[in-house]
Amino acid sequence: MHKAFHQGSLIIERLEENGHEAYFVGGSVRDTLMNRVIGDIDIATSATPEEIQAIFPKTIDVGAEHGTIIVVTSEQESYEVTTFRTDGTYTDNRHPDNVTFVKSLEEDLKRRDFTMNAIAMDKDGKILDPFHGESDIERRVIRTVGKATERFKEDALRMLRAVRFSSQLSFFVETDTFIAIQKDRALLEMVSIERKTMEMEKLLKGQGVKNALELLVTTGLHTFLPHFEEKGNHLKELAKLPVYELQSRSALWALLVIVLNVDDVETFLNSWKLPKKVTKAAQENLKVIEQVKRMGWVKEIIYRSGLEQSLEAHQVMAVLGWENKSKSVQIHKIYNALPIHSLKDIVLDGHDLVEIAGEKRGKWIAMLYQDLEMALIHEKTQNERAALKEWVCNWLQKYDQNY
Ligand code: ATP
Ligand code: MG
Repeated sequence: MHKAFHQGSLIIERLEENGHEAYFVGGSVRDTLMNRVIGDIDIATSATPEEIQAIFPKTIDVGAEHGTIIVVTSEQESYEVTTFRTDGTYTDNRHPDNVTFVKSLEEDLKRRDFTMNAIAMDKDGKILDPFHGESDIERRVIRTVGKATERFKEDALRMLRAVRFSSQLSFFVETDTFIAIQKDRALLEMVSIERKTMEMEKLLKGQGVKNALELLVTTGLHTFLPHFEEKGNHLKELAKLPVYELQSRSALWALLVIVLNVDDVETFLNSWKLPKKVTKAAQENLKVIEQVKRMGWVKEIIYRSGLEQSLEAHQVMAVLGWENKSKSVQIHKIYNALPIHSLKDIVLDGHDLVEIAGEKRGKWIAMLYQDLEMALIHEKTQNERAALKEWVCNWLQKYDQNY
């Protein structure tokens, strides 16, 4: 068994000592069976949230009403422990609106979305797999637990999750599940945008994004995503790009805006309800890309955007095939060679300027700094006091003539 399960086994042992059942469940079991890197380790148990809290010294209540308690085992490690349950409808990101705690593991596995996600593993690594998830994993198939149509009526997000997993795992969607998605796709309208956004981002980051985006369009699911309705062909173009090479959300959304040829960027990004920070950074990327398209990677752009922003914009352009990947080395070099990296690096400060000019602070200081930045970057003067003083005196003369 994977090393990461070791601590988890101790939690399971403690629960068993107290007369409860407990198993590893969900994504970590699936990923272990596939020899993939595992993410969070989840544990399902017959113990109620109160019983879990009574057994472990350090717990965090993240949703006892949904049956979920986090058990903290060390500073770095904690595990989500969830009481066996069945679900009501989901409207928020993670939890169904109402749940019923149930007695058996099998009932809990039955409420899970796909057979590959409905496998349990006991503390010794023994697999319990009532819905034959293991053989579906072997055949690389995504299949709902039970009748697809019924499962999609309970929670329509599962349709999008199927496509997301097909991207992450490079799996196929089994025929009945596929047909049900095509038929029931309009149910996706009922799902909150936050849940859709989360799945969409995971979809775009997957290695199997090519097939997944094609699947998104052939099932027609895309027509129930914000501003994607008329963009089927654009999405197929997007499918051809190595989208998974992008690391940040803001790069991802900037790419989407470009490939989908979005007119109203603000409305588009807002309709996906992205955090303000992501929206702003995506727009910043778009601005830099626009400038680079006109002027190339000139010093001024790299200085104004900073290294991180420049590299992110470059990464988007590389995915688009507009730039060579290796250009990033050059961007690094240009940045490192800049005489200053921000106003703070200029050795004359505001006080010095007031003294040299013999004038009070005013708008002129900002204007001077703007010109001075460019003069320094283009090496028209040097960042040391004597040279700067001379440059400032010249500038003031011209300023006096003009104003
Ligand atoms: P990832 O590695 O991307 O986190 P995961 O399988 O862990 O994949 P999660 O979204 O974290 O996916 O969900 C954990 C588990 O909870 C799933 O494996 C599945 O068993 C169950 N699950 C999550 N969302 C749903 C849902 N909407 N309907 C039914 N079961 C769900
Ligand atoms: Mg998970």
